[in-house]
Amino acid sequence: CKIDYQPASNLLENRVVLVTGAGDGIGRTAALTYARYGATVILLGRTIAKLERVYDEIEAEGGPQPAIFPLNFEGATLKDFHDMAETLDKEFGRLDGLLHNAGLLGKITPFEQYNPELWEQVMQVNINGPIWMTQALLPLLQQSADASVIFTSSSVGRKGRAYWGAYSVSKFATEGFVEVLADELENQSTLRVNTLNPGATRTQMRRTAYPGEDPLTLRTPEEIMPTYLWLMGPDSVGISGQKLDAQPPRV
Ligand code: NDP
Repeated sequence: CKIDYQPASNLLENRVVLVTGAGDGIGRTAALTYARYGATVILLGRTIAKLERVYDEIEAEGGPQPAIFPLNFEGATLKDFHDMAETLDKEFGRLDGLLHNAGLLGKITPFEQYNPELWEQVMQVNINGPIWMTQALLPLLQQSADASVIFTSSSVGRKGRAYWGAYSVSKFATEGFVEVLADELENQSTLRVNTLNPGATRTQMRRTAYPGEDPLTLRTPEEIMPTYLWLMGPDSVGISGQKLDAQPPRV
């Protein structure tokens, strides 16, 4: 956890960074923050109007011109991911960072009652889609001198919890995939890959999962950005295959 990290103001200058789920919640704040520190941000998500609002905000702040990439992980095919890689290759020639942030909660419900279609949907959005997107983008990530790939995890991806069903399992799969990929890349790539658990954060997803909780007791997406910046920027070069947290555990 690097919540006290103090990034240089030009930390991400000349870096091309893709953020998934960039229209809302933590992803929206990460996209805006990365742009503030100099990154050219590719805003990926399923609701174009939200992405456009983030785009306009970055432009209004005078950040590097971002790009919008509409994509819904539900229904996205291998061809979509390869077309995307081709477009990014033509436009930028490389990718210096990839924040896998898009996520679907599914339903908090006893496993006995879990709907199998919803289960598949959650696995598609939270792990299968991101895995094949990563495969398609590997050549572009290898073009960077020190690319960082971040997968968003959760505390229920490190210890199972009753009723969290597919969401918890998808985050465990995320942790497992990152161990495998990091081990493959060790000693043969400048590319690093880690998981980051944001911890309880004031977003719509958290409100849905904990309707009785006072959101004002939670950290905001802005407050957890130091760790997101550290892990995306060059100060974390050499860190790979780690399970990181964006904030200290709540007491
Ligand atoms: P939000 O629900 O606020 O935002 C999720 C983002 O993912 C939205 O931009 C959403 O798009 C996008 N998304 C959802 N489904 C798809 C899809 N099928 N295709 C493309 N994009 C999609 O969640 P948070 O910001 O809270 O969560 C961000 C990440 O952090 C997630 O991976 C979550 O699991 C993780 N996390 C969050 C915690 C928290 O306390 N908030 C705690 C632990 C982990 P749209 O706006 O169009 O719906």
